[in-house]
Amino acid sequence: MEKLNNEVMLDERKDFIVCNSQMKDKKIKCDTNSVEGAVSQRACVYCGARVVLNPITDAYHIVHGPIGCASYTWDIRGSLTSNSEVFRNSFSTDLREEDIIFGGEKKLIAAIDEIVKEYNPELIFVYATCVVGVIGDDIDAVCKDMANKYKIRVIPVKSSGFAGNKSAGYKAACGAILNLIDEEKEPLEKIPNKVNYLGDFNLAGEIWILRDYMENMGLIVNTKITGDASFRELKKAKEAVLNIVQCAGSMTYLAQEFENRYNIPFIKISFFGVDDTIMSLRLIAKKVYEINGNTEIIEKTEKFIQEKLLEIEGSLDFYKEKLKNKNAAIYVGGGFKAISLIKQFRDLGMKTVMVGSQTGRAEEYEVIRSLSDSDTVVLDDANPTELEHFMRDKGADILVGGVKERPLAYKLGVAFLDHNHERKHPLCGFEGAINFAKETYASITSPVWDIVREYKQEVGDLNG
Ligand code: SF4
Repeated sequence: MEKLNNEVMLDERKDFIVCNSQMKDKKIKCDTNSVEGAVSQRACVYCGARVVLNPITDAYHIVHGPIGCASYTWDIRGSLTSNSEVFRNSFSTDLREEDIIFGGEKKLIAAIDEIVKEYNPELIFVYATCVVGVIGDDIDAVCKDMANKYKIRVIPVKSSGFAGNKSAGYKAACGAILNLIDEEKEPLEKIPNKVNYLGDFNLAGEIWILRDYMENMGLIVNTKITGDASFRELKKAKEAVLNIVQCAGSMTYLAQEFENRYNIPFIKISFFGVDDTIMSLRLIAKKVYEINGNTEIIEKTEKFIQEKLLEIEGSLDFYKEKLKNKNAAIYVGGGFKAISLIKQFRDLGMKTVMVGSQTGRAEEYEVIRSLSDSDTVVLDDANPTELEHFMRDKGADILVGGVKERPLAYKLGVAFLDHNHERKHPLCGFEGAINFAKETYASITSPVWDIVREYKQEVGDLNG
């Protein structure tokens, strides 16, 4: 029997939302374009591409389009760097009405000329935005000409905002990275203990934590894609024996292409939560052992896990006691992360009452549904009205999401945990699991919610 309170849904959205096992015969619709008029929480194609490429620290990023598109800069997603700070700048061709009528290629050429003259770059990415797709500027030809003229790499990123959804942007970014790597003629010799790490963007220095984990296992992180990566580092990506994929939503296509083109296998892992961290470390060790036959990695990994468990022993007990029976709502970019978050909340004694993602795939939603309670609402590519409705309907105590979900939670007087762009503390690995519990506790128990409740009693609920 259907128990989904679906009064706010557009008819066209009903296939994207299920009440888990109470609608067990219904498959969730996902991995497709957004419903027109539904005001999706998803980012556009260009934003999807930018989020993947921007962390390359010594690259210059030219946004070919109106100045508004260029507002998506490092300041919105502050990946950390151990070297160049170039990527913190943003460049735009600032297309105006006249350019839209007569074409924007001249402005793009002028922008590249100027950057070369001022900064002497080795690598430039040129992003096509909506208007460029409409007027039909040939950015491929411009990039090729400018690359030949200056003997540098100028990579076009086909990311017109309207041309699909955020996943298409991920694919465009992966295409740009492949373009970069494919042409490199450096030696291809594979080094047995070198791995690439795909899909960490070094928020709060997370890639450095994970690099230390790998080193403790006896591995060397050859190329990071793309958190704290450099042009030089990307060029040697073919030397690795294994690709470790963290953000499956953005990096599966790239990993698959690496396997097809350079014979480098990949595994998907997640370092969110203690259980998934341990599972991922063991999975990496097993896979590397299968590749190079060296048993040492298994022993080193087990030793490292035991050391870390000893280090954090008892650290979560206080939070488990305080958070048990609280309700969590999750709305994140990819389905793989949502899976880890459900497990993390469960470990803290909390129930996930609503869970969704922008770009989850059918197989990920299967796992999400198998981990969730029978009455958990599962939704793909949600809009703000749906998120607010189900958070209220299911009594969520906290929402986990990104920058666009934060105001929705605050407006409802619900606690919030940023698992995306703006956070300043790591949430991955053993250390991150403790930060996650701490932040969940701090946000849910903040005295501000009492003030909001009192205020609502005084003036009435402002949310209808
Ligand atoms: S590319 Fe299009 S959808 Fe994306 S920010 Fe620019 S105008 Fe908006």
